[in-house]
Amino acid sequence: MIKTNLAAIQAALPEHVTLVAVSKTKPVAAIQEAYNAGQRDFGENKVQEMVDKYDQLPSDIRWHLIGHLQTNKVKYIAHFVHLIHGVDSLKLLIEINKQAAKHNRIIDCLLQFHIAEEETKFGLNMAECTEILTSSAFAEMKHVRICGVMGMATFTENTEQINKEFAQLTTYFFLLKQVFFAENDSFSIRSMGMSGDYEHAITQGSTMIRVGSSLFGIRAE
Ligand SMILES: *Cc1c(COP(=O)(O)O)cnc(C)c1O
Repeated sequence: MIKTNLAAIQAALPEHVTLVAVSKTKPVAAIQEAYNAGQRDFGENKVQEMVDKYDQLPSDIRWHLIGHLQTNKVKYIAHFVHLIHGVDSLKLLIEINKQAAKHNRIIDCLLQFHIAEEETKFGLNMAECTEILTSSAFAEMKHVRICGVMGMATFTENTEQINKEFAQLTTYFFLLKQVFFAENDSFSIRSMGMSGDYEHAITQGSTMIRVGSSLFGIRAE
């Protein structure tokens, strides 16, 4: 039962860690059930699905776009998205800034880093990230706010490796904090940890976990 799962996860979370309930593929009724139990942060990885759910659910839900975001789809979520976790190019950031400006908003974003060994996962390395943050295009952006970093560890049973990858992301965060965001209190989020590995992520400095199947049950994908 969703309410019970939610209570169990929340009870074990340190106060500084935010739970994003990953509701992708799950029906509106399941989200409503979690909402009724007090949950307000929800994560989706597909733009169309997030828009459909946004239209049907209470307006005080904070919608997190957690998957890869295509530049041409930013316009569909720019008026309501709470946090975009997967920013991995300057091109995407430019488009988010442009669409946010149209709605007179500042959109909060996380820089996604590639920390896993798998080749398939999206994300930046430190050199690419630095290139974005030192660009004149970024310096001129008034409608995006970089609030931290996001990453996914390798899907493995090897907890030593998982811990190492999460620790790497935390190291990246503090490096960026020191060099680019020392005066910026909004730069505070380390989005790492899913159902299978969030306990490790928390020991390695996570401040935001993205949990789906442990909360809503296994997805039939
Ligand atoms: C699906 C997804 C999650 C949640 O995965 P679970 O294993 O179901 O907790 C977290 N983060 C991202 C980016 C996802 O796509």
